[in-house]
Amino acid sequence: MEEKPYVSVLVPVLNEEESLPELNARLIKVLNEMGKPYEIIYINDGSTDNTPIILERFHNENKNIKVIEFNRNYGQHMALFGGFEYAKGDIIITIDADLQNPPEEIPKLVKKMEEGYEVVGTYRKDRKDSIFRTIPSYIVNKITARLVGVRLRDYGCMLRAYRSDIVEYMKMCPESSSFIPALANTFAKKIAEIEVSHEERKKGRTKYSPIKLLQLNFDLMTNFSLLPIQFIGMVGVGIAGLGILFALYLFVRRLLIGPESEGLFTLFAILFFFIGIQILALGIIGEYVGRIYQEVRRRPRYIIKRELL
Ligand code: UDP
Ligand code: MG
Repeated sequence: MEEKPYVSVLVPVLNEEESLPELNARLIKVLNEMGKPYEIIYINDGSTDNTPIILERFHNENKNIKVIEFNRNYGQHMALFGGFEYAKGDIIITIDADLQNPPEEIPKLVKKMEEGYEVVGTYRKDRKDSIFRTIPSYIVNKITARLVGVRLRDYGCMLRAYRSDIVEYMKMCPESSSFIPALANTFAKKIAEIEVSHEERKKGRTKYSPIKLLQLNFDLMTNFSLLPIQFIGMVGVGIAGLGILFALYLFVRRLLIGPESEGLFTLFAILFFFIGIQILALGIIGEYVGRIYQEVRRRPRYIIKRELL
């Protein structure tokens, strides 16, 4: 019988043929040095390059390496959900395939977990990404910390460790899109965050287009609370109140000064403001309705085409 792994490392992969050989070699080296039974699970998230061939070779070379393959691209977080279904370790680690987070940091994570934490996150020391990534991510971190109620410095860094029961709880969440670090923190009580180094992406390109990044952030906001919609509601009430006050003010002026017509353009400005708010509100309602629709359709979240176990 196979030995039960102590550590499961999950790697979501989308077109990473250039990074994979180095990643795999470094992962195996680090995990062997730790001296505990391990498994590496690669989730091929619909790659169109040589990734499947490379992954199959890894699997043939090392019995600790498992590969699951989606029929198409479902996104990094869905890939990790797919991996959760197969992970048998006590400690489950997620890591990107692009070597931006060095695999050599894994023992540090494991050591921290062994102190009794349920989730260990990481934050990136001197993050090596463009400001188009770091500024949005700063804002998202602040918002997420609010929504989830757990203050972490870096929700975006996907080198993280979870205890297997936390993963079990996450598997019970059937929503069609989710943001794993935030989800984990809604279940965990003992959470730590350690510093890890970060490198530039050496090979291949980022798999997140601006649109995909925006979608991910919407997932985060609307999945974890009703706060955005409630906030809009409150703004609506506030604006209506201001509108009444303003009407009163105009009425008093009319009595004191008499008719005025120069105010026309001010009115336009106000009108545009209202229209803007209305469209925004509509957009947010649409976002929720869209999500409800996705949930009630009950489509499978992903389809696994092939597994090499
Ligand atoms: N990834 C994935 N599916 C996607 C997008 C990304 O499996 O739809 C993987 C990708 O191969 C990498 C990790 O998720 O292993 C992080 O992606 P990337 O490095 O492009 O993101 P960034 O570092 O730019 O945030
Ligand atoms: Mg990256």
